[in-house]
Amino acid sequence: MIDQAQKLLKSTFGYDEFRPLQAEVIQNVLNRLDTLVIMPTGGGKSICYQIPALIFEGLTVVVSPLISLMKDQVEQLLAVGVDAILLNSTLSSEEYANNIYRIKNRQASLLYVAPETLMKPGILDLLTSVQIDCLTVDEAHCISEWGHDFRPEYRQIARLRDQLPNTVFLALTATATPQVQDDICRNLHFENQNKFVASFNRDNLFIQVAAKNSPLNQAIDFLKKFPDQSGIIYCFSRRQVEALAAGLQEEGFSVRPYHAGLADEVRKENQELFIRDDVQIIVATIAFGMGINKSNVRFVLHYDLPKSIESYYQEIGRAGRDGVRSDCLLLFGYGDTQKIRYLIEQKEDAQQRKVASVHLDKVVDYAESDACRRKPLLNYFGESYDAETCGMCDNCLKEKEELVDITVAAQKFLSCVFRTGQYFGSAHIIDVLRGSTAQKIIQKRHHLVSTHGVGKEYSKQQWGHLSRQFIRKGFLKKDPTYGSLKLTGEAAPVLSGEEKVFGTLQDEPVKVTADKQVSKDFDRELFNLLRIRRKELADDAGVPPYVIFSDKSLQDMAAHFPQSQNSLLDMHGVGSAKMEKYGDVVLDIIRRYCGEKRIAEKPKGQKAAPRKKTLKDPTHKPRYVIVAESYNSGNSPQDIVSEFGIQLNTVLDHLYKYYQEGSKLRKSDDFLSVSDADAEIQEAVMQAFDRLGTQLLKPVFEAVNSAVSYDELKILRMHYFCRKTSL
Ligand code: ADP
Ligand code: ZN
Repeated sequence: MIDQAQKLLKSTFGYDEFRPLQAEVIQNVLNRLDTLVIMPTGGGKSICYQIPALIFEGLTVVVSPLISLMKDQVEQLLAVGVDAILLNSTLSSEEYANNIYRIKNRQASLLYVAPETLMKPGILDLLTSVQIDCLTVDEAHCISEWGHDFRPEYRQIARLRDQLPNTVFLALTATATPQVQDDICRNLHFENQNKFVASFNRDNLFIQVAAKNSPLNQAIDFLKKFPDQSGIIYCFSRRQVEALAAGLQEEGFSVRPYHAGLADEVRKENQELFIRDDVQIIVATIAFGMGINKSNVRFVLHYDLPKSIESYYQEIGRAGRDGVRSDCLLLFGYGDTQKIRYLIEQKEDAQQRKVASVHLDKVVDYAESDACRRKPLLNYFGESYDAETCGMCDNCLKEKEELVDITVAAQKFLSCVFRTGQYFGSAHIIDVLRGSTAQKIIQKRHHLVSTHGVGKEYSKQQWGHLSRQFIRKGFLKKDPTYGSLKLTGEAAPVLSGEEKVFGTLQDEPVKVTADKQVSKDFDRELFNLLRIRRKELADDAGVPPYVIFSDKSLQDMAAHFPQSQNSLLDMHGVGSAKMEKYGDVVLDIIRRYCGEKRIAEKPKGQKAAPRKKTLKDPTHKPRYVIVAESYNSGNSPQDIVSEFGIQLNTVLDHLYKYYQEGSKLRKSDDFLSVSDADAEIQEAVMQAFDRLGTQLLKPVFEAVNSAVSYDELKILRMHYFCRKTSL
């Protein structure tokens, strides 16, 4: 059965290999063993139930808490030709009834359903009356009160176990805490051996931290590396969001704000514009990002400090879900730390103060660390990261020579801690080292200890930076409640001079790392042509561009220049449905581009899975030829729509392709009868085609001030080709 799964992976989803653990999980589910899957965002959880759903005879039900995610999943499945439907409170009563009808009549492989809908009596009866092979609980942490998103309705799911005795249960989450995992297993009565935990390492994310000294300029420098590419900037406060969004707008960036203070409609609109690639950048508070599935987020910039390591991981995790290299930059400012510390001190609840300050300390530690960034991130999730270098973070790319000998500073600091009795925090120790004669120093008679005034060579800030390195290196332990420092056993060899200490004297000056890492080699010009066309296709279909093709698919095409259907099918993410829908359009662009530039195809290894699909009819004529012949024989576009049961858009695409190949089309005014545009606008469009050519619709769209849709432009373009006077 796993062979079948492997074939479906290529033929339906267009992927060559399973990601780690996907095959194991699928096998387990196909064996009808209840399974818990812990995978980070972007790890590829969906495939784990979508492929079994295509193999099982009966229905797979997916319980999902966020309506926007459900819709997105269904759109993506429909795009690859899988019959998925959803049931939730946003459907009109007709849609709802129609979907119920389809379930009853077994016309769907996958049903996405909101938990509260699932528990409705009618739905339960319906589901017990049809065969359900798999029940998938997505975002399964919602079942646990310990999770960050507890949903009481989720608790009811367990009741279904008795009602669906022959159904295998699969729970998926990206939440790694053991407590939450236990809760899920206990609630769903799972056995432990069927738990699969994937690594939380996201190896396509390039991670860096820079000292924040001129943030707006730093942000602009960073953004300039990503022209036309999507990204998110996180700020601490709403005010900061507004100010930065305005600042960037002035600089000519395509940007919108997003925070809880904006009206619902505005927020929704801004999010939608971002998802559909109409706006490049979202500047947001942490309120942004939940429930969006946009796979082509190419960068995440933290303009301010994140609240905790966990939220930082979540936030950078929104980049690069498609597996393409994506960049994450954190601007780390000393002033920000002070500001947040101050805010924490204002909190009433002592426990909250403590938790928040532990989180802050960890973030500061992380930012100041000179070790691989992946280590603390993965350690946080209980995973160790042992690679010598990850090659994808600033510290791993940093030349080791940048480290200096700080042994003497360490000895001074550690002995000062010792001589003042190990009762004080770093601020006090630093004051003693720098020879302060403040009242608190005199009172405690610390002006008399031998280390008083021996550390004047460094500023307060430098000592702060040094002391944090000493703590991180394990020479000192900080009391979490009082902040007092105590020596550990590891301090002895440093004090005695047996061990040398290397580190940095201060934060690095800003250095937005140049692209040292080889990003995938592909033809950017072709990528851009494909990207523009993808956007048009997406707008036509009313879906986000990444639903049509991921960035990775387009990069693959722009690297291999496939010029036949077979080689196009070798590209990442191109399965049979996408081939059928968009293959001709994409091949057209690639062939034309390669023709002009005299570029030959660079085939991938001949290892692709065997294909079932033939895209040709028994006469072996390509579809577009058959359609064009039907038109030339006198059939109108509407006739062809009903003759072949295809959409008007598809008819237009086929005819366009036929015409582009140099074949003749019958002269007619047929296309005007399917056009809704006013005569005046039609004329303006004809003139625009005269001036701008017919290859790209976007310039024409803009030339007529967006007065007509892309669908309409395609109709008018055919009219342009076929009008009586021109041919
Ligand atoms: P998650 O739900 O774990 O956040 P998704 O299921 O949305 O992740 O998958 C993230 C992205 O990775 C999607 O764009 C998906 O199509 C892609 N993907 C999943 N499995 C594979 C695979 N085996 N090969 C290539 N891409 C994959
Ligand atoms: Zn690293």
